[in-house]
Amino acid sequence: MAQAVLSQVSFCESSTLHHSFLGERAALRALPAARTACLRRLDIQSRVATNPVNLEAATEPPINLYRPKEPYIARIVSVERIVGPKAPGETCHIVIDHGGNVPYWEGQSYGVIAPGENPKKPGQPNAVRLYSIASTRYGDSFDGKTASLCVRRAVYVDPETGKEDPAKKGVCSNFLCDAKPGDEVQISGPSGKVLLLPEDPKATHIMVATGTGIAPYRAYLRRMFMEDVPNYKFTGLSWLFLGVANTESLLYHDEFTEYLKRFPDNFRYDIALSREQKSRSGGKMYVQNKIEEYGSEIFELLDKGAHIYFCGLKGMMPGIQDSLKAIAEERGLKWEDKLAELKKNKQWHVEVY
Ligand code: FAD
Repeated sequence: MAQAVLSQVSFCESSTLHHSFLGERAALRALPAARTACLRRLDIQSRVATNPVNLEAATEPPINLYRPKEPYIARIVSVERIVGPKAPGETCHIVIDHGGNVPYWEGQSYGVIAPGENPKKPGQPNAVRLYSIASTRYGDSFDGKTASLCVRRAVYVDPETGKEDPAKKGVCSNFLCDAKPGDEVQISGPSGKVLLLPEDPKATHIMVATGTGIAPYRAYLRRMFMEDVPNYKFTGLSWLFLGVANTESLLYHDEFTEYLKRFPDNFRYDIALSREQKSRSGGKMYVQNKIEEYGSEIFELLDKGAHIYFCGLKGMMPGIQDSLKAIAEERGLKWEDKLAELKKNKQWHVEVY
């Protein structure tokens, strides 16, 4: 049977695991050495068997099995900070036990209703917040009973004092990041069809994320490269562009570098570190600058039918659209026409918040 070895490795140990690749790949693989956080790493010896098989049987994705007014009461399995001490802000990987009762497909979201009263509507429960699911339908324990979220803690910094004001911190993200194993968590959903992973195992996927926008792609990539799913044998190409502030803010980097090592013909991974790298024009390196660097290749793949996905903060889209427009014009195309074509062919997928 396929095996996964879960190992706790410190930054010193993990640096020794990244030694054999040349050029840019080597640079990428060496990055975790800059981290000081003790990260959990999945050392995948071979693909992992998944259960139960009937999770592949449905022809339509599950939608809104639980409504926010009658949520499912799930339990927190674990909450793990997954960024280093020098990352601006905190991002946590949160595993939730739904007992197999709230199934979902890769690319969908759960709603979470934090306990307590809605500060905007006294006497009423908190409003639901959506979180993209960062695990495949089988969950991180491969048994179909859990879902994982990648949550950034929302804090409020007073513009005058420059200090955090705890009275104005985000309700749901703080509830989730402070939760303890065994705590109850009210969930609704699953919801969302925009980022469902296309069924064709030969397809090309260009995935663009900023920060927690990585969540749905982590799910895709686990299905493509980590799990042994009888009716989904990925032989296409997945190309991930991830934008974060600095090395210590990289999310799930260990999993992604492992795929680079094991599936070099099927996976590409480019990162933009806005506070550490400079773009070609000397400015901060944002994800759209990385897209520009590979503009011709990206357009060639799109011309051949590749899917392109965008997930993360709303603010990422204007800069990305500008870059894509510039690349289109260099190629003698009108971006508006190309975009309309991509949308018509269902190659264009955007979920930003
Ligand atoms: P809220 O309580 O809703 O507050 C929002 C912001 O307002 C906070 O920054 C807070 O500090 C600030 N604020 C509060 N009070 C005041 C005040 N009086 N004055 C000024 N500012 C104030 N997020 C993720 O982290 N990961 C995901 O994977 C993810 N996926 C999503 C998927 C979808 C489809 C959508 C729509 C959203 C997603 N989000 C995700 C965002 C998420 O739903 C929440 O919006 C986010 O976590 C903030 O919610 P909150 O309850 O913590 O903050």
